[in-house]
Amino acid sequence: MIQSLPGFKDILPAEIRKWQFVENICRDIFESFGYQEIRFPVLEKAQLFSRSVGNDTDIVQKEMYTFKDKGDQSVTLRPEGTACVVRALIQHNLIYKGMHKFYYVAPMFRYERPQRGRLREFHHLGVEAFGDPSPYVDAEIMEINMEILKKLNVDVRVEINNIGCKKCRPLYIKVLKEYLMEKKGLLCEDCQRRLNTNPLRVLDCKKESCRKVTASAPSILDYVCNECKNHFNEVQRLLTKMKVDFVVNDKIVRGLDYYTSFVFEIISDRLGAQGTVSAGGRYNDLVEELGGSPTPACGFAAGEERIIELFDYKEDDRFVDAVVVPVGKDAMDFSFFLTENLRKEYIRSEFISSGSLKSALRKANRWKAKWVLIIGEDEMKEDMVSLRDLERSVQKKVKVKDVISVIRRGLDE
Ligand SMILES: [Zn+2]
Ligand SMILES: [Zn+2]
Repeated sequence: MIQSLPGFKDILPAEIRKWQFVENICRDIFESFGYQEIRFPVLEKAQLFSRSVGNDTDIVQKEMYTFKDKGDQSVTLRPEGTACVVRALIQHNLIYKGMHKFYYVAPMFRYERPQRGRLREFHHLGVEAFGDPSPYVDAEIMEINMEILKKLNVDVRVEINNIGCKKCRPLYIKVLKEYLMEKKGLLCEDCQRRLNTNPLRVLDCKKESCRKVTASAPSILDYVCNECKNHFNEVQRLLTKMKVDFVVNDKIVRGLDYYTSFVFEIISDRLGAQGTVSAGGRYNDLVEELGGSPTPACGFAAGEERIIELFDYKEDDRFVDAVVVPVGKDAMDFSFFLTENLRKEYIRSEFISSGSLKSALRKANRWKAKWVLIIGEDEMKEDMVSLRDLERSVQKKVKVKDVISVIRRGLDE
């Protein structure tokens, strides 16, 4: 038997309604905030991510599905959406065409050790807003998150940080590196390497020994420039007005290099080690770094699998509303075309083409259908249908021309 790859998951019909429900709510919210859907390719040039996410990040170093295609081009299965949206923005000159706010619902790929809450193919619900440097955009991004989580009744906490800009961050990195160098021996192997390539990442390390070292590390908040500080203060002022409960956590650096100033993580304690439900922030330099004109930007991506896990949803496992059962050969054609008529009215219907009435009823029960339509010789003669309501266990004869309206009424009840 051939099984799916580790970290790749089928989403089966029993779960799909929950996915559709979450996606529909998110789409409605994104669009009410003025975002437009964008779809970008699964495969991009590898350099798009090494230049945006950053060469010294775990994503690029260890986690990307990068390979040479048959044309000897180095390509990557997208590990995140922001770089793809920025690439499309520049390529199609979208801002010039009046488009500046985008959302996407899309699978992403990272080669990580599969564990609870971490798959190799996972889904992001994301938005990106371009062209506006004001803190109101950051507040809007947070408001979208809060709306989604409120609608889905998911309990979370919000942590925010200011990670500075290309003007002020280098100074902090220098100070941090000096501090960490003194304690190098206490850091894990990965962090000893990061110390030289990307010292900020050490703040991200989940290992206890590294956390002890970083607990008393200098804080980035003491090193950011006035512009970054003012922006961050304004975002906090707005969040407070919006009644968002947040804490400032100066250890949040996010696993990607492109962020500037405001960053955030929305975390649930019900998910174990992989508790981040949604994360994002500002990335004012990325568009320029990827070859566009300087364009401030802000966005986020939420993990759909994690939202799904947190969100309580009463499962509706009825896949079929009505089952049409002909009794005897003469009723076959009539029943088949009656089923077609139900389907044209968007009543989900199954036609049973063989077997006994008893086995047909068993199928209808397993499918949790509400109605069974039985058509035999008598019914044919009288131009009637025997309509059985499986929920109430009652059966009556109904004129063929009235069947659809009776079923409609029963389904709406
Ligand atoms: Zn700054
Ligand atoms: Zn470490």
